[in-house]
Amino acid sequence: MIDTEKIILPSGIECEIQELTADAERILTNKSDIKSGQWINKFMSKAIVSIDGKKYDNQGELISALLDMRTGDRNYLLLQIRMQSYGDEMDFNFECPKCHKTSGYHMNLREMLDSGELKVDSYQTDTPIAIKTREGVAEIDYMTGHSEQWLASIKDIDTIHLAMAVCKKFNDKAPEYKEFLKLPVRDLAKIRATYAGLKGGLDPRIKIECYECDSENEVMLYQIADFFTPLTSLGNIGL
Ligand SMILES: [Zn+2]
Repeated sequence: MIDTEKIILPSGIECEIQELTADAERILTNKSDIKSGQWINKFMSKAIVSIDGKKYDNQGELISALLDMRTGDRNYLLLQIRMQSYGDEMDFNFECPKCHKTSGYHMNLREMLDSGELKVDSYQTDTPIAIKTREGVAEIDYMTGHSEQWLASIKDIDTIHLAMAVCKKFNDKAPEYKEFLKLPVRDLAKIRATYAGLKGGLDPRIKIECYECDSENEVMLYQIADFFTPLTSLGNIGL
């Protein structure tokens, strides 16, 4: 009998999740899924029992429902899946990018969520936000799994791709790279600032203080290998 749990995502969508089986960890090492950015959706799909009461027999439909979700909801869902399957505790080694020395850490994810160290914001309802640029109007909106996957598929991401990922539309059409190339950098910065101010869902950034040089490093929770496969960095499994 597998344990299931009902959770409410920051946008209000109810998800029922179940414990992951070893099958899910296999996805994390599948090179073609990692390359295409599909791994995260396949990984999450293994834990989903239902979304908004709907059960999915078809894997493709389930993946598409996950892709439609906003990134802040997906981040929250991923954290809940992690806690349900592996527990709240996270022990890991982290190499400081400044002094390159490695320190050991212990975190309790649920306590961080309860204390607000991991922030969850409700969604703004005034989206998309229209920004006037010299070349036309950019509509800034929350990223979804589709935008994440699009970014993951690009080999050399630059600031233009990042700005495009948060624009739902540019002059009423899908944004195009060649149009964005013509934008003054001031407009690109305006798009970035607008998106940075758009809070919603789980913010996966955490601060890790280096015990050797005292510098504070901002890290995405998911950049820590032990988030997905506990004891990876500690045990030197070398995945
Ligand atoms: Zn350091």
